[in-house]
Amino acid sequence: MKALVKSRAEPGVWLEDVPEPEIGINDVLIRVCIAGICGTDVHIHRWDAWAQRTIPVPLVIGHEFVGEVVEVGSNVTGFAPGDRVSGEGHVVCGRCRNCMAGRRQLCAHSIGLGVQRPGAFAELVALPMTNVWHHWPRVPDEVAAIFDPLGNAVHTALTFPVLGEDVLVTGAGPIGCMSVAVARHAGARHIVVTDLGPGRLELARRLGATLAVDPREQDLGDVQRELGMTEGFDVMFEMSGNADALRSGIGQMAHGGRIAILGIPTAPVELDLDPVIFNMLTLRGIYGREMYETWYQMSVMIDSGLDIAPVITDRFAYTDYEEAFAVAGSGGAGKVLLDWREI
Ligand code: NAD
Ligand code: ZN
Repeated sequence: MKALVKSRAEPGVWLEDVPEPEIGINDVLIRVCIAGICGTDVHIHRWDAWAQRTIPVPLVIGHEFVGEVVEVGSNVTGFAPGDRVSGEGHVVCGRCRNCMAGRRQLCAHSIGLGVQRPGAFAELVALPMTNVWHHWPRVPDEVAAIFDPLGNAVHTALTFPVLGEDVLVTGAGPIGCMSVAVARHAGARHIVVTDLGPGRLELARRLGATLAVDPREQDLGDVQRELGMTEGFDVMFEMSGNADALRSGIGQMAHGGRIAILGIPTAPVELDLDPVIFNMLTLRGIYGREMYETWYQMSVMIDSGLDIAPVITDRFAYTDYEEAFAVAGSGGAGKVLLDWREI
């Protein structure tokens, strides 16, 4: 089958013919229809320091996808050829304390699809049945293809209650923008978004931001006054991985404010803990999606009118993957999709 493979320890990924995945008795074999390019895939393509210490070469990459079941192992129930599914990209051990207690997202030994095991930028991908999610009928295919990053946005945005609250979102990448739409759907009042790029700020407005600003041009205190806010933001989603964004956000929070941190910094971050302590802030790290409550929440919200389709800005056939990776890595696009159906 055709697959995008990180086959050499140097920048790039390569379209190659590789053997079809073999499935065990508990596995599901899925024909990939549409896949999404994640920032992680861009890191792997660039072969930065994180990728060099993380990715075993050679490896089929990719983890965001929607596809169709083609075969199931002899022990599999509940899935049949033809089912429309996506995969949860964290394959957990099932035996550690957290897994045994049903907190699978906290597994201490999870293995990443397309990061540590063969991924979804391929005609076929195999996953254990416990990692496969049935899509509900009203979820559009392209939205189904990005349930993985939408899950990051939903997990972050619903970690703290946002009904009636004023929310600050730092970073308007695809995940930050989707979190705006989710917070809007969940009843937030003002949603202020910061980013350094005009294209990204425009995308945030399309997904429901009250105001989207470049923090180098507009002071967040002035923004609060403009909106008639008096006590600071109640909830913040850190979606940039940028230390300045986190630090300045902390200074804009109301007493008792809550901060969910999804953005991954590229280096250790120095923080002044005074406002955290004296203003009694809560900081919570967010990783992946809750298994499988986040998947349920995504399905319910899409079913009840949440529209995140505007975050998808570019579509390519998988054979044009180099162009697709260039657009995804440009920092200006929204979500970039690769079509794996016959072309
Ligand atoms: P992205 O890189 O496309 O978006 C980040 C945005 O932050 C960019 O638009 C950038 O311009 C903006 N930014 C940079 N400095 C800023 C500043 N000082 N103030 C405001 N904005 C600033 O990333 P994405 O794909 O949307 O993902 C968001 C973040 O979440 C990334 O850091 C990514 O690595 C991380 N991530 C975490 C998880 C997890 O499970 N924790 C999963 C996926 C992605
Ligand atoms: Zn575990």
